[in-house]
Amino acid sequence: MITIVGGGLAGSEAAWQAAECDVPVTLHEMRPVRPTVVHKTDRLAELVCSNSFRGDKLDNAVGLLKEEMRRLGSLVMRAAEASRVPAGAALAVDRERFAETITRAITKHPRITVTRQEVTAIPDSSERAPVIIATGPLTSDPLSAAIAVLVGERYLYFYDAISPIVLAETIDRSRVFRASRWGRSLGPKSDVRGAECDVRRTERGDVVPAERVRGAGAPGLDNDGQGDYLNCPLTLDEYDRFYNALVTAESATVHDFDKERFFEGCLPIEVMAHRGRDTLRFGPMKPVGLVDPRTGREPYAAVQLRQDNLAGDHFSLVGFQTQIKWGEQARVLRLIPGLEQAEFVRFGMVHRNTYVNGPSVLDETWQVRARPTLFFAGQMSGVEGYVESAASGLIAGLNAAALARGEAIAPPPRTTAIGALAYYVAHANPAHYEPSNITFGIIPPLPHAPRGKKLRNQALSDRALADLDGWMRSRTLVHQ
Ligand SMILES: Cc1cc2nc3c(=O)[nH]c(=O)nc-3n(C[C@H](O)[C@H](O)[C@H](O)COP(=O)(O)OP(=O)(O)OC[C@H]3O[C@@H](n4cnc5c(N)ncnc54)[C@H](O)[C@@H]3O)c2cc1C
Repeated sequence: MITIVGGGLAGSEAAWQAAECDVPVTLHEMRPVRPTVVHKTDRLAELVCSNSFRGDKLDNAVGLLKEEMRRLGSLVMRAAEASRVPAGAALAVDRERFAETITRAITKHPRITVTRQEVTAIPDSSERAPVIIATGPLTSDPLSAAIAVLVGERYLYFYDAISPIVLAETIDRSRVFRASRWGRSLGPKSDVRGAECDVRRTERGDVVPAERVRGAGAPGLDNDGQGDYLNCPLTLDEYDRFYNALVTAESATVHDFDKERFFEGCLPIEVMAHRGRDTLRFGPMKPVGLVDPRTGREPYAAVQLRQDNLAGDHFSLVGFQTQIKWGEQARVLRLIPGLEQAEFVRFGMVHRNTYVNGPSVLDETWQVRARPTLFFAGQMSGVEGYVESAASGLIAGLNAAALARGEAIAPPPRTTAIGALAYYVAHANPAHYEPSNITFGIIPPLPHAPRGKKLRNQALSDRALADLDGWMRSRTLVHQ
């Protein structure tokens, strides 16, 4: 019998994997009894921000990780395929259908019992009854406090900044054009989490209160070109106006942009803007590879909008994570051509995020070193991102099931993406630990790598998949 706390991406995947190994599971999820500040439903595996699982090709690392998860029988990957929406070479999903598919699969599984309750202390665990904590970045306060006592680590709070979403019918189609960058599907270099990011500080910050802004719908002409994105082109004057409004807008939490310590991979737009007038034009507003069909030229700058649900009635502003006050956001973002009348379904915001210092606390099996009958999985375990969270849940679920059945636990080879992620979490430098997305950089290099990044990455993927297959055969995992 396994107890899992938290029915998010990691907890749901862990429950599925363990139950598929014939081990009974009790999954405790606190919603809807106790909500979080960002979840909106009572569904399991609700995606709280971007609807993208990022790149889906084998020459990028997250594409490899997803393929490994598919081979391991991942429920999250199966649900993602079943709710896929157009997003070039990325895997993006209709968030409602996705969460609904997972919820149905988990609640109907004969060996999984779901209880809706907040767990306030770490449950007792033993070899026959291991526990997995997968309560995510918004772990409730009493449990956070209990975990802090257990791991003996000073907690790090960091702040996630998420992008706004607008209602499609309020986008002025006469001012935007449909296109993918370079006229083709997303390539590996675009394999970034478009609609959210992480910024980090050492203290807890305030969460912005909910608020909706109403705007009139804008009918307009439909620009019916090819491509997965709606692009809002800006002239030099329009960019200047937007830039000036952005750098003078009031921020919800941050007042001194020089002193804030942010995660460089994904900065709030106002922080980027404060670094220089053109910083945004080399970041989320870069126009390269986008030709405006009305002028036949690249615009001076561009904002990309990506479809956020299957119905196509929500679009998120790609890379536009922000912590500007919500009223101010509406004013500033409506300076973007095409968004003058935009109605915001969700504003960008900043919130608390919690994780343990993986290398100090965990083994590469996702077991707590000091208490091996306890596992951490998901964002709480010190990984970063939807796919990585689900991947850690997958292996934690398999390993907890092995422990409960009295079998040996063997982590996947380090040459696989899923094994490399676990290795990173357990062995990175604890002094400078940062949760990581999967990258080829944390997978050991090939002894004789082909020249060229694409070929090299493909070769790393080939080796990873061969090694994963060997590992699965050795464990008689036959999900394929
Ligand atoms: C606002 C926000 C935006 C994000 N945006 C993105 C993004 O766009 N892309 C991306 O890849 N990653 C994003 N992340 C990171 C994202 O949370 C993780 O990638 C992923 O959801 C983590 O999965 P998880 O299973 O660890 O946690 P979650 O999916 O959050 O699941 C944890 C579950 O545990 C439950 N829970 C918490 N405490 C308790 C308790 N005491 N008892 C019982 N249940 C409890 C919660 O209700 C929740 O359902 C974002 C995170 C946040 C907070």
